Amino acid sequence: MHKKTQTFIKELTGDDFMGECAFFSGEPRSASARSKNFTDVITLYKHDFIQTTDEFPKAFQTLLDIQNTIKTKRDFSKIGVKCYFCEKLGHISIDCPEFYTQ
Ligand SMILES: [Zn+2]
Repeated sequence: MHKKTQTFIKELTGDDFMGECAFFSGEPRSASARSKNFTDVITLYKHDFIQTTDEFPKAFQTLLDIQNTIKTKRDFSKIGVKCYFCEKLGHISIDCPEFYTQ
């Protein structure tokens, strides 16, 4: 569900995940989710992830590289994000050029 417009975006199932854009970009979430039934959710907190990068400095550098690409180019392709609207790789629905032409 898109936060500002309350627009339904996508139904998530079994192995789906959400929040990856906010996780990698450092930006606030632009969408939220509501469960229809009881749901098991696994959460990865960014501060926990960053703590593990003490042992894996290359992972921390990769996180910074991804974050920089998203902030400077609005390019989410490095994390495999596809637009929920047009399903093309690299941008999110709020940045979708097709969304604004309709
Ligand atoms: Zn799109």
